[in-house]
Amino acid sequence: MSEQRHSKRLDPMSTRNTDWFWEEAAEGRLSIQKCGQCGALHHPPRPICPECHSADRELTPMSGRGTIYSFMRVSYPPPIGFDEPPLIALVELEEGGIRLITNIVDASLEDLANDAPVIVDFEKTAKGRSLPVFRLAAKGGGA
Ligand SMILES: [Zn+2]
Repeated sequence: MSEQRHSKRLDPMSTRNTDWFWEEAAEGRLSIQKCGQCGALHHPPRPICPECHSADRELTPMSGRGTIYSFMRVSYPPPIGFDEPPLIALVELEEGGIRLITNIVDASLEDLANDAPVIVDFEKTAKGRSLPVFRLAAKGGGA
C-alpha cells in the first residue's frame, strides 16, 4: 500500500449505497456489487439490480487485476487534492467486464496504453480513508 503520497486527496462521498465499497477498500479489498438474484455484477454500487430489479445485493471481492480501457491526464485546471496532474483511467476488471474510473499511479502518460495490464493498490485520503487506484502490472507477468 502506498503511504502518504497523496495525503491531500479528497475523501469519497459517503452514501448508504456506497459505504460498503469504501469499507472494503479500507480493508484492502476491491469488492464489487453482485446481484443476489441473477448474479450480475454492477459498478458503481446502486440500490437495485438494473438487470432484474432485485434489491438483494452481495459483495464480491475482485482479483484486482484488469486492463486499461481508456486514459487521460488532467492538467488544467489543476485538480484539487493532487500534487501533480493525475492520470485518470477507465480500468476494465478481469471479472465480468466491470469498468471503474480510477487513477493510475507511479507511471507517466507515456507509459500508458490501451489494454495495458494493471493491478489495484490503495492510497490514503487526507482523512485517512482508502481509495482504490491502479498501477501498471509488472512486465512479463507476476504482480
Ligand atoms: Zn439481478
